[in-house]
Amino acid sequence: MKKHNFSAGPSILDESVIKDAASAVLNYAGTGLSLLEVSHRGKEFTATIEEARNLMKELLDVPEGYEVIFLGGGASLQFYQAPLNLLKTKAAYVDSGTWASKAAKEAKLVGEVVTFSSKADNYVWYPKPWEKNEVPDDVDYLHITTNNTVYGTELRYDPDVKTRLVGDMSSDIFTREVDVAKYDLIYGGAQKNIAPAGVTFVIVRRDALGHVDRPLPTMLDYRTHIEKDSMFNTPPVFPIYVALQTMKWYKELGGVKALEKMNLEKARILYDAIDSSRLFRGTVNPEDRSIMNVCFVMKDEYKELEKDFFDLATSRGISSIKGHRSVGGFRASLYNALPKTSVEVLIEAMKDFERKH
Ligand SMILES: *Cc1c(COP(=O)(O)O)cnc(C)c1O
Repeated sequence: MKKHNFSAGPSILDESVIKDAASAVLNYAGTGLSLLEVSHRGKEFTATIEEARNLMKELLDVPEGYEVIFLGGGASLQFYQAPLNLLKTKAAYVDSGTWASKAAKEAKLVGEVVTFSSKADNYVWYPKPWEKNEVPDDVDYLHITTNNTVYGTELRYDPDVKTRLVGDMSSDIFTREVDVAKYDLIYGGAQKNIAPAGVTFVIVRRDALGHVDRPLPTMLDYRTHIEKDSMFNTPPVFPIYVALQTMKWYKELGGVKALEKMNLEKARILYDAIDSSRLFRGTVNPEDRSIMNVCFVMKDEYKELEKDFFDLATSRGISSIKGHRSVGGFRASLYNALPKTSVEVLIEAMKDFERKH
């Protein structure tokens, strides 16, 4: 039986998507060849990547003037590539957690960076400098990491600022409707909500490019990949194929609106269980809680029970709920493909454990 996979990344994919991918690995689109051994320039894969690009635009309601490209290098390469292409003199960064601070670090190699951080409080709240008008007017963009995968906070709206936005949406893409028009760039690794590791999606406003003076290496210039339809070099064909299957499944389910509703419900029942528990408590400010990565610990007086709860959870087929080493305790990641029944199994385990102790 399949386990209840709460992994933070790489993460659960829908069973139907995995089966389809497995069959394409054996015989891709009736070619009699494996998806893993065909030319990326053949008509079958050209159709796959084109459909993936169009479906991403459709599901995320990407306006005219924006391009969708598929790259390698992970979100981590975007930490550098984004400022290289967009940062003229100065940028602002919201330092909301581990990934956000890595992004700011790379941007500092390229230009001046102003940060707004909650690091001193171990990232238990999400910094919102726009609420106090603190984002300088003269920055090229404000970079936000919309979901903090490690600490479990999230910004679930697109802030109103005078400047352009750049968003790392690796761990919450396709979980809410995004106003893409506010962004110059949205990027993310696919391995949390879309596909296996290996492909990075980038949504970029065409007119935002071409304004920096520095010479750009060919591979790191977004325009290279736009002009070649993400085929300048060999694209990661397998994860792109799987991304397409996931997005088709999203469309069948009713698109982003339907996914958001399901996710809110999953998060609500789990946070309710945590908040009403005698043994467990959440680790971040309730108003900034992530609906994707739910972090919780045993209350101080019960700390020594954490190991026992792990054992109980494991015995019930619950996989990967160990918290990140910087937070400890537990982290249950509730990505799109995780069914509500898995959350219910976890809650049941928490309740049974509480009855025993
Ligand atoms: C996982 C993650 C990353 C890192 O992605 P890679 O593809 O491994 O480079 C970056 N940002 C966020 C928000 C993430 O969750």
